Amino acid sequence: MAATFINGTKIAEDIKKEVAIEVESLKGHGIQPGLVVALVGDDAASSTYVNMKAKTCEQLGIYSRKLTIPASVSTDELLSEVRKLNEDNLIDGILVQLPLPKHINKHAILEAVHPKKDVDGFHSANVGSLVLGHETLVACTPLGIMELLRRSNVKIEGANAVVLGRSDDVGKPQALLLMHANATVTICHSKTRNLAVIVRQADIVVGGIGRTAIVRRDWVKPGAVVIDVGTNKISDHAEVERLFGDDPARWKDFEKRGYIWAGDVDERGVKEVASMLTPVPGGVGPMTIAMLMKNTLKAARMRRAL
Ligand code: NAP
Repeated sequence: MAATFINGTKIAEDIKKEVAIEVESLKGHGIQPGLVVALVGDDAASSTYVNMKAKTCEQLGIYSRKLTIPASVSTDELLSEVRKLNEDNLIDGILVQLPLPKHINKHAILEAVHPKKDVDGFHSANVGSLVLGHETLVACTPLGIMELLRRSNVKIEGANAVVLGRSDDVGKPQALLLMHANATVTICHSKTRNLAVIVRQADIVVGGIGRTAIVRRDWVKPGAVVIDVGTNKISDHAEVERLFGDDPARWKDFEKRGYIWAGDVDERGVKEVASMLTPVPGGVGPMTIAMLMKNTLKAARMRRAL
């Protein structure tokens, strides 16, 4: 069986169109949702992500502001910036771009964001609400994966779901969302034994551990749905060849940029057994930003009880 690729780029575009329509309708109430992205330091990759977020806001009619803060900022100074944003009436969503410099107390910063403006869903109040199954702001990547599954008509209820990774931003919220959608969930991590055996029992696999092509064909039950969260940068010629053979599209990309992105799933092998598979890039990645827009809209509504 050859897997169908789930087109995350297309689904993300659909969601962004839906958000743009709702943003337009809020104008009638004199409301424009607003997002601020705080970038600490000058990491090139983070800066690119922040610019992409600002550009998407602009496309959807969401007010956006980029706050660039020098890497030398102290935790206290950054806390004071966050508190100002909590009070800023133009701002519905606050996103502190991660990673933060090592000397900053990340936990203190994420906890300082007002839970109602926490569009990343990282505040303990929002995580607690997610555990309890209450309506709240939830982390964008796992939320996007739920949308990918639903919009691809994947049956979640009763399914065996295996989540690879237990991070706060992906694995844990993903497992909770799948459990609330009535899947039977197993969470795996670096100390899990017999990973392949556990993954092989899954109807739905979500791989988010950052290990290139670790999920191989013989790990996957025939007909399983496989969601690849991994984003691994491959700049070695031999590695590209090992992973993708002579795939002309990959080589074109590699020659253009000097690197390509690959997931945690061995696409070439797994697509032969899975029923559906997300590509990397073009699967989960575009959904994360679409869900950030959706969360900003949701925060704008929640803050005004609309
Ligand atoms: P993370 O915080 O580093 O967490 C990695 C998780 O994987 C940990 O729970 C770790 O276990 C587990 N792990 C590591 N090696 C393992 C192994 N060999 N076998 C089983 N489990 C293993 O990473 P993250 O933030 O969750 O991100 C994971 C991947 O997703 C990365 O490639 C990242 O770039 C990607 N990502 C993509 C998006 C997107 O929008 N496409 C968004 C977020 C993340 P322990 O807990 O035991 O250490």
